[in-house]
Amino acid sequence: MSGRTAGGFGGSSPRASSAGGFGESSPRAHSVVVIGGGLSGITAAIALRDAGIDVTLVEARPRLGGAASSFARGDLMIDNGQHVFLRCCTSYQDLLARLGATGLVTIQERFDVTVLSPRGTARLRRTALPGPLHMGQALVGYRLLPLADRLKVARAALAMRFVDPADPELDGTALGDWLAARGQGEAARRLMWDLFIVSALNIAGDEASLPLSATVIKTALLGARDAADIGIATVPLGDLHGRAAADLLGRLGAQVRLGSRAVSINRLAGGFLVGLESAAGGARLAGGEGSQPAGPDVSELAADGVVLAVPAAQAARLAGAAGVGGASRWDELGSSPIVNIHVVYDRPVTTLPFAAAVESPVQWVFDKTTQAGLGTGQYLAVSLSAADSYVDVPAASLRDQFLPALEQLFPAAAQARVSDYFVTRERRATFRQVPGVGAIRPGAATLVPGLVLAGAWTDTGWPDTMEGAVRSGQNAAERMISELARPYSRSQAAATHPVTARTVLAGARASDNAQRGRSVFAGARASDKPPRGRSGAAS
Ligand SMILES: Cc1cc2nc3c(=O)[nH]c(=O)nc-3n(C[C@H](O)[C@H](O)[C@H](O)COP(=O)(O)OP(=O)(O)OC[C@H]3O[C@@H](n4cnc5c(N)ncnc54)[C@H](O)[C@@H]3O)c2cc1C
Repeated sequence: MSGRTAGGFGGSSPRASSAGGFGESSPRAHSVVVIGGGLSGITAAIALRDAGIDVTLVEARPRLGGAASSFARGDLMIDNGQHVFLRCCTSYQDLLARLGATGLVTIQERFDVTVLSPRGTARLRRTALPGPLHMGQALVGYRLLPLADRLKVARAALAMRFVDPADPELDGTALGDWLAARGQGEAARRLMWDLFIVSALNIAGDEASLPLSATVIKTALLGARDAADIGIATVPLGDLHGRAAADLLGRLGAQVRLGSRAVSINRLAGGFLVGLESAAGGARLAGGEGSQPAGPDVSELAADGVVLAVPAAQAARLAGAAGVGGASRWDELGSSPIVNIHVVYDRPVTTLPFAAAVESPVQWVFDKTTQAGLGTGQYLAVSLSAADSYVDVPAASLRDQFLPALEQLFPAAAQARVSDYFVTRERRATFRQVPGVGAIRPGAATLVPGLVLAGAWTDTGWPDTMEGAVRSGQNAAERMISELARPYSRSQAAATHPVTARTVLAGARASDNAQRGRSVFAGARASDKPPRGRSGAAS
């Protein structure tokens, strides 16, 4: 790797005249490196750039978007896994609006889910009544569950209204135990509670964290009547998030380095050095149409602050090495897999845009035909959450299990020819949202001033979702802006924890003459937030 020596940190530091953007006579803008280009890092980068901060976003992969991505397979664009959101996911929708992508998703006018079973079909559809009455009719009419169980579910759901997700006493409680104590038998748990919890929390329903389950149920199903209306993308996720974010960040004057992995964070008085490793073939700069080679390799970036927006395990390693005490604990959040089974039929086999299934290995199934760009036939994706028992099963064995299961649910599939079949596996799709995670999830702040955390795994009060990721990015940006406004405490803290300076290399500058927009995130509706869990500085 090669590079050129540039400047240090803070307003009085020397600067590299050739690095660009540092006017000698004007006060220097603060600079922040955002590590990780998933939804949390994208959100933080936009909000920081909106605040006039020089931003460099480094992403290890050759694209932005993180856990929500797409890839080409022949003429089709395939999502790595189906992603849905709900109308109550207001921060995520704010991000979509900022990306100019609101028109690229569709939200149901009214929560409406067809539930398929080999022994029949039910429809869960909300009414126009205010919440929680809006779901009453759907529950009463849910024929797949015996009437006595439906009434018990209604009683437990109403009791859920009084569960406080922020109560630390409940952090260690499993949903299954709470439900069992409220008379919810096997049928109620498998045919009703699992329907929403397994996909929302990506964990077996009985094992799920009670506070996170309560957040989902209270916010989506017992809250405002339109809160649970389901939204899905009409274009591949890579276009919806990744490409749109690269374009916007480019317009805002942020530098986006793709194929650039952060391998270390070193602290110096008043700032940081982020060590980088480039992917084979070199890093690329995003922006405009596609990406361009980044030019001479850069092995370190200097900045006043760092937003660490990577998954928990990577954050634990990088932050731990930077002196954040207790960071190794974040690794205990673990990971939970999601598997998607993709089947392309030579003809349509269902008219449903999506459906849930019970008493079947299929959990949720989505019609991806139009979104993926398929001309004739029908492309269905079966989304399997909490997929521990599937993630290592060979594709051929999954085919033997799932094609007959789909034929049971969609009889027309038995007459259709399968023209393509494949499996996508995300081993670390989310963290394991089990009892005890509330005590582990850190807030945005760390005890190292200027080093701030983002990521759907941090303590947002929300599960590991796109909404949680965006909220975490907003939290991180707010925290960073307030920390950069306190330079004295930053340099004091660095002096308390001295680090060895290494060569600072040029190339990290974002242009100063960028267009600056008003942050839509500043207007995030606080009243829409679910009850907050524990947050605070990681130690
Ligand atoms: C298959 C699947 C289905 C899902 N379904 C849904 C759904 O239906 N609804 C929903 O709301 N959520 C869903 N999720 C969860 C959602 O995708 C995540 O919660 C969210 O995208 C996480 O965003 P993030 O920014 O926190 O993390 P990530 O998206 O993981 O982003 C972290 C980024 O950091 C990068 N990185 C890591 N280490 C480094 C390093 N050292 N240097 C530089 N870059 C680094 C990674 O490459 C990655 O791009 C699903 C996830 C998966 C995998």
